Amino acid sequence: MVSSKEDNPDKAPGAHLKIKIFYNNLIMQKILVANRGEIALRIMRTIRKMGIKSVAVFSEADRNAPHVLFADEAVFLGPAPSALSYLDGEKIIAFAKKLGVDGIHPGYGFLSENADFAQKAAEAGINFIGPDPAAMRVMGSKLAAKECVKQFNIPMVPGTDQAIEDIAPAKAIAAKIGYPLLIKASAGGGGKGMRVVEKEADLEEQMQRATSEAKSSFGDGAVFIEKYISSPRHIEIQVLADKYGNVVHLFERECSIQRRHQKVVEESPSTILTPELRKAMGAAAVMVARSCNYTSTGTVEFLLDDQLNFYFLEMNTRLQVEHPVTEMITGKDLVEEQIKIARGEPLDFTQDDLSINGHSIELRVYAEDPLNNFLPSIGTLTTYIKPAGEGVRVDDGYEEGMAIPIYYDPMIAKLVTHGKDRLDALQKMKTAIEEYNIEGLFTTLPFGKFVFEHAAFLSGKFDTHFIQDHYTPEKLKEKQKQNAELASIIALKYWLNAQKEIMIVETVPSNWKNRRS
Ligand code: ADP
Repeated sequence: MVSSKEDNPDKAPGAHLKIKIFYNNLIMQKILVANRGEIALRIMRTIRKMGIKSVAVFSEADRNAPHVLFADEAVFLGPAPSALSYLDGEKIIAFAKKLGVDGIHPGYGFLSENADFAQKAAEAGINFIGPDPAAMRVMGSKLAAKECVKQFNIPMVPGTDQAIEDIAPAKAIAAKIGYPLLIKASAGGGGKGMRVVEKEADLEEQMQRATSEAKSSFGDGAVFIEKYISSPRHIEIQVLADKYGNVVHLFERECSIQRRHQKVVEESPSTILTPELRKAMGAAAVMVARSCNYTSTGTVEFLLDDQLNFYFLEMNTRLQVEHPVTEMITGKDLVEEQIKIARGEPLDFTQDDLSINGHSIELRVYAEDPLNNFLPSIGTLTTYIKPAGEGVRVDDGYEEGMAIPIYYDPMIAKLVTHGKDRLDALQKMKTAIEEYNIEGLFTTLPFGKFVFEHAAFLSGKFDTHFIQDHYTPEKLKEKQKQNAELASIIALKYWLNAQKEIMIVETVPSNWKNRRS
């Protein structure tokens, strides 16, 4: 008798997949989170939700940090400087092996884009929750990334797609694309390693500076030239790719409000994209992911010029800081998806299953002084009371009484709101900022309030030069003075009304008063 597929489920299409999933599920029982602060805590929450055990790592500066207290197990890495703790990949892998860990989630920053670390984890038999080292290597270099996507018709910023070393070819390219232009470090990141050149007379000197800076900061002196897009918006597309060739995008995030080329406010959807443009950028992002056989979560960054032309900038091969806004509008837990992909599960939804629900905005709350050039403001959170309520999410890694260490990124929290539309999300954000009580150091909360009340932001007509064009400490001070005056007028009005009521109650005939009581 010939057995049917029903008789023998192992022969049914996709059966091999199920066996693999089952097998991998079994071996993903303990995940080490190679990070700290808000992102470590956020990742561990999902790990716990999935019934998996978590292991925290910590440095001397983070002994009592919430991510350490939350984890099922925690290991001490060493002194506070990152090089001696959170960047010590060998030590982290050794601990992971010792503790029987079968997955490492790198979060963002630190080792998250280090292909050698991912490779070594894999060699040690530990599942790196992220893309393949090969994809990380390609996308980790802006030049290699350009080379990789070139053949797929992805629009790119005019400029060189190869390292430029000599001034003669640099001048020739510059003459073709025109000034101003941007010299960029191929290995650059975090908004660093970029130089704007306004005119030819400055080109040679700026090239030399850029090259030596790139060498000393990133260990790779390769630089290239791009046209400086004069009024760009930063629009990025979230992608998810499994190990079976399924790639989807989860729409865009607009990240144009930046200081020093680093994002401070993000939102989704963007006010500028039309459905057609969203579709075209989404398709381009999926193509970029396919070009390097990408798996896991990733972000494809684009610049959009004032004519709505979009250009590929780079791909970030990790979970992005601003991923919560995407989670809010799609209802997907991106960390859960990442873990499922890493353990071999196929995506259980398609592009057509995804849609945008409402609007979400994120403010990065940094320990920085917006009245003093956004300089880090290190200190202790003497008061720390966070907002809560429907449509309000705070991803943080600190508690009242804790000090913000000088060794790491000074981000205290991400304040995220979700509303039925942009106005609703904005209103919730403004209320949440009012309710967020942080004392002991300066934060970017007042700057956020300034942005969310600004006509350019409200109208949706802004670009990456928002701060340059609209913000000065004096304007913030003026706004704060106006708000304080308004608050005292409102308080006075309430007080006068209350006095009036007291007077009325006191002057009504006694029999009426008696009837009321
Ligand atoms: P990084 O890897 O350091 O984050 P990116 O290439 O992603 O660098 O660019 C960061 C920011 O720098 C962008 O969001 C944008 O504000 C600015 N930028 C980058 N390239 C250009 C360009 N060609 N023209 C104008 N602005 C640019």
